[in-house]
Amino acid sequence: MATSFWGNNALQFDFVASVGRSGGLLNMWDPNIFSMQSSYKSRHLLLSSGTLIGSNTTLHILNIYAPQELPAKRDLWDEANEEFVFLGPPERRFLEKLKHFKEVIKEWFKATKLKEDEMELTLQQDLEHLDNSLETRSLTEEEEWILLEAKKNLLELEDYKRKDLCSRGTICHWNWRWKRRDLDSVEAHQLQQCINQLNQVQITSGKDQWLWTKDVSGIFTVSSMKTILLGTPLQNNFILQWNSWVPIKVNIFGWRAEKDRITTSTALITRGIHLESHECKLCEGYEETAEHLLVSCFVAHMVWQFVSAWCHISPLFFFSVRDLLKAHKYINVSRLKKKAIQAIILTACWKIWKTRNEKVFEGKPVNITNLFHDIKSLSFLWAKNRYSCNSISWSDWCDMSL
Ligand SMILES: [Zn+2]
Repeated sequence: MATSFWGNNALQFDFVASVGRSGGLLNMWDPNIFSMQSSYKSRHLLLSSGTLIGSNTTLHILNIYAPQELPAKRDLWDEANEEFVFLGPPERRFLEKLKHFKEVIKEWFKATKLKEDEMELTLQQDLEHLDNSLETRSLTEEEEWILLEAKKNLLELEDYKRKDLCSRGTICHWNWRWKRRDLDSVEAHQLQQCINQLNQVQITSGKDQWLWTKDVSGIFTVSSMKTILLGTPLQNNFILQWNSWVPIKVNIFGWRAEKDRITTSTALITRGIHLESHECKLCEGYEETAEHLLVSCFVAHMVWQFVSAWCHISPLFFFSVRDLLKAHKYINVSRLKKKAIQAIILTACWKIWKTRNEKVFEGKPVNITNLFHDIKSLSFLWAKNRYSCNSISWSDWCDMSL
């Protein structure tokens, strides 16, 4: 078979047999040119060593069949390194370089420490000498200056020594690239706060890792999460009865409003966002909170009066967002109408918030008549498309004869 590869009979060869259908190594040569003197074989290596005929030049023909997996590759190179001397593959050379760098850093650290210790000793000697002199005479101007400098340098040295290797090796400068040049006083203050916080961050040479702080092991498990959830008292938490006639986003808005988790001016200011004022943008008279906006603002008052008149129920008065979201339960009407009223209340909350946003972000003035109309039509649209019987007509909805 080797002859068929070679093309004529003037050949010699050496081989490593294949394992199954893979592997197998074959070295072939012309015996008139190369004379083999020794060979080394293993599963992945075939080395044929000899001399070139007519000269004393030693020649090695090395044939390698490298495995795919990294650990196996590493083993192969270790084996090859034991048998032959050569530079090795790139990753090995890289590791060698890394080792070299580590040694250099170690040396540098050692030398720096030695220099620091020497400097500290000299400074302390200077101080001691000057202190002794002080007991017998007053210092000259030059000596006083040396005393101050020595004290200052000692303090700096101590401070420097306290830093770890990582922060000593690199000096951090914040290089900001602003698109806008001038910062106003509030922004400058916020930037300073940010820099102060960044300066407190200690970068260590250890490896970063995620930790689940709720468990001593630091490892997140579903069971530890379950334990925490089961241990949390839920009595005070309001459970919103979901209304399937309005979109999920509207239900979620109601739920968040009850928790005061909507982005009202007051909530934003509490979370450290700079706003010019925290007053309600609809009435411009009170602090804007979820409760004010949906319960006590004059716009909300008018909306709830309109809703109670439209639904033929006694006037709706609330003290909190929670009251608002529970109101439908206590109205003496059919189950279907209760659900409709809950959908209307949720839609109204959503529309009040939209009206507020349109005023804040687009400068659109508040139009109460349009707001009432929008609440009526939007709640009808949502209910009609989501109510499984799909039998509500616009006139039924307008008369609230459910
Ligand atoms: Zn208001």
